[in-house]
Amino acid sequence: MKAILFDLDGVFYQADKPIHGANNIASWVKEQSIPHLFITNTTSRSRSELVSKLASFGICTDEAHILTPPVAAMQWLKSKHISSDLALFVPEATKQEFNDFQLIEDDSATVVSAVVIGDLGEKWDFATLNRAFQYLISQPHPKFLALGMTRYWQAKDGLRLDVAPFVVALEYASGIKPVVLGKPAQAFYQSALDYLKVDAEQTVMIGDDIYGDIDGAQQAGLHALLVKTGKFRPADLEKGIEPDAIFDTVNELPEWWGR
Ligand SMILES: [Mg+2]
Repeated sequence: MKAILFDLDGVFYQADKPIHGANNIASWVKEQSIPHLFITNTTSRSRSELVSKLASFGICTDEAHILTPPVAAMQWLKSKHISSDLALFVPEATKQEFNDFQLIEDDSATVVSAVVIGDLGEKWDFATLNRAFQYLISQPHPKFLALGMTRYWQAKDGLRLDVAPFVVALEYASGIKPVVLGKPAQAFYQSALDYLKVDAEQTVMIGDDIYGDIDGAQQAGLHALLVKTGKFRPADLEKGIEPDAIFDTVNELPEWWGR
């Protein structure tokens, strides 16, 4: 094993509370000079905000060690030479990752080159969802990008809908398949591997999401370790997905790594 991909939410912290001792794991991976990336489906924060949030938990990293769906989406759009008339359905904070692009002027725009769907959370309402739908079915069809396919996340008040249910609704209505840039898409895992210049079989993913982190990583050829923190529920182990190891918390990682 040569490299590690870390999920963030549910592994190092839960909402605004750090997971006890997890900051030591971030120090450990640095001290050991193990190639690593923090890969998260979070679309509510930019990388710079994530760096600050991690620092508040005693985790010292930089933007270059963080891969988020907006960053992968930005690279994808550039590779397709799309630079203007973007319709973003992402939280305000995430928009800064798209600073190099020209966005549509306002809600009355008729020409759209790409529709990007992120986790708008409580900002979703019928009018907003319907506007995304109308863009998607306009001619010529714009590109349809999904910032991850996370089904739900653990908030302070319980599990909450994430981005996937809204992407699926738009896909169902429009009949157009989205390009998914975020876990569990193989393309997203591949961009992380390319970035670290490592092979899938030499890399381990660690996370709390049985679908996005465990099944997604294994489908992409990586090893996958499940932590029983964050959104983990015992029923996750009855879904026919077998993690390569299961930890109570990420703190068990060094022992597993050195086994
Ligand atoms: Mg997570």
